[in-house]
Amino acid sequence: MALIVQKYGGSSVADAESIKRVAKRIVDARRAGHEVVVAVSAMGDTTDELLDLAQQVAPIPAPRELDMLLSSGERISMALLAMAIHSMGFEARSFTGSQAGMITDATHGAARIVDVTPIRLREALDEGAIVIVAGFQGFNRDTRDITTLGRGGSDTTAVALAAALSADVCEIYSDVDGIFTADPRVVPKARKLSRVSSEEMLELAANGAKVLYIRAVEYARRHGVLIHARSTFSSSEGTWVLDRSRHHELVPEGEEMEEPIVAGVATDLSQAKITVIGVPDVPGKAADIFKIVAKSGANVDMIVQNVSAAATSRTDISFTLPKTDATTALKALAAEQSEVGFENLVHDDQIGKLSVVGAGMRTHSGVSATLFEALSLTGVNIEMISTSEIRISVVLRGDDLAEAARVVHTAYGLDGDTDATVHAGTGR
Ligand code: ASP
Ligand code: MG
Repeated sequence: MALIVQKYGGSSVADAESIKRVAKRIVDARRAGHEVVVAVSAMGDTTDELLDLAQQVAPIPAPRELDMLLSSGERISMALLAMAIHSMGFEARSFTGSQAGMITDATHGAARIVDVTPIRLREALDEGAIVIVAGFQGFNRDTRDITTLGRGGSDTTAVALAAALSADVCEIYSDVDGIFTADPRVVPKARKLSRVSSEEMLELAANGAKVLYIRAVEYARRHGVLIHARSTFSSSEGTWVLDRSRHHELVPEGEEMEEPIVAGVATDLSQAKITVIGVPDVPGKAADIFKIVAKSGANVDMIVQNVSAAATSRTDISFTLPKTDATTALKALAAEQSEVGFENLVHDDQIGKLSVVGAGMRTHSGVSATLFEALSLTGVNIEMISTSEIRISVVLRGDDLAEAARVVHTAYGLDGDTDATVHAGTGR
């Protein structure tokens, strides 16, 4: 008997029929003798609809009330799911985030889990019940208010429950089959991975892969939670997100030491580039610029500083940041232009970022050469480069991104024999 945590995304519980199908899956796991804890998201696009409603009554809704409103979405799906399970003759009990002991800090809309005290869940399990928990929400002890964890937060709920209950596995169900070597909508020859390490998954998620949320992967990595990302619409195995040193039983002989050089290619069109032109090339200017940007709340990703022109001893500094942060950052910089002494600001929101991720990069040379060669053969111009121990990222024209991803995918030998079946899936 195992303890299994299952998470169902909004697309898996979009209507009554889907809820019944999910109930059947849950009951099957219970029938097989397992203890089952389920974290569920709000039905379909409920969260977006609630957000939209809020905006109609107030341009800037009060954060406390917004969390009250949004957390109700998951309350609907958890109760319906428990009812559906009852009608199949099984005992199920639903719990809100606070009833489940999901303790967070007080940040409305982006709360962090600080503790999980699943006492009531454990009791319900001991009494033989299936436990259903509302995803995406928690409770703060100081304010005594309901919080939400940020969009996509149900993944984190599931992983945190798995850690707190020492579950054997955390199954994350969505409308796609697992983690792919690239987004199949961009690279048709993408293959489903059987397994990927949590550190690789973190880099993929941070650089554009949308199937799993980065905070959930971080939490899983920190607590050693084994994730199985799979589809609600099939019974085939999905992708194991694991720690090779911890989950030996899932790693085939020989692969324990020899990690894949490249696990996947991630693409991201959500970034913009700002170039600060004519920055005086003296100590302290980069510090000035990035202090201003940080204060504006923007999350800077890549940075490039050019060599200064001898004649002017001025230089250009470019950096990337989420498109949604660009306007605020530009305003903040413009306000300090004379103070910092730069000449001009250029905003470019037509960029794309391509990243190649693989733990085997640590021990193999020539990985970046393959990337640059593949791109040069297609005539794609590289504008910025950054690397980590297990990742190489380049910034290109957004229009070039899809073709670049296909070419690079082929160059690393990642192509499957057939085109991937592309569901209209969102990964949610
Ligand atoms: N319902 C929330 C959202 O749409 C949480 C989730 O789906 O994980 O963001
Ligand atoms: Mg949702």
